[in-house]
Amino acid sequence: MKFINVHTHHKSNDNSTISILNCEPKSIDFSIPFSIGIHPWNINEEKIDPEINFIEQQLQLKNCFAIGECGLDKLCKTDYELQLTVFKKQVHLSEKYQKPLIIHCVKSFEEIFHLKKTLKPQQKWIIHGFNKNSQVALSLIKNGCFLSFGKALTIATKLQKTFKEISLDAVFLETDSDEIDIISIYQKAASIKELKVEELTRKIHQNFNTIFIK
Ligand SMILES: [Zn+2]
Repeated sequence: MKFINVHTHHKSNDNSTISILNCEPKSIDFSIPFSIGIHPWNINEEKIDPEINFIEQQLQLKNCFAIGECGLDKLCKTDYELQLTVFKKQVHLSEKYQKPLIIHCVKSFEEIFHLKKTLKPQQKWIIHGFNKNSQVALSLIKNGCFLSFGKALTIATKLQKTFKEISLDAVFLETDSDEIDIISIYQKAASIKELKVEELTRKIHQNFNTIFIK
């Protein structure tokens, strides 16, 4: 059974893994499984409409598994209202094309909860690079979000504690932009949950099939 790497910025030829490559409107290669979105750091007010149109085209490709990463970031320079507008446009596309969202969320969990309540999306929202405490994790899961864990899980003991306390039903693993092998993240995650790597792999494969394969 293959490892799932739900979010990576690096193309790999590793046959043991299904990776979702993060693409942007300026990307050109859509030949392998990918997600595409406008990251809050990269919002350019004049380009929003053409970029959203481009994303809408790519979403119809067979290799497109998700929209993102997109999201909300209170620490970045982009105007927050503009971030919200662009994020909502991508939520709309996610619903229209029935593909999950991969979300970059910095100091914006309250907004995510609010948007979930008001927009009532059917598609799953995956909070990528999750590195907060159990309380935040459990509220996100309660609100129907999935959490994706990356390199931080191999280092941060607090995050390991969080991971131990949450259900694997809502979990993905990822390498993001880090130079780390997805297998080492699976190994760490399995040891925290006191599982065999194969058991964890099977579980995450199930999660993947549930939300990505239609
Ligand atoms: Zn990323």
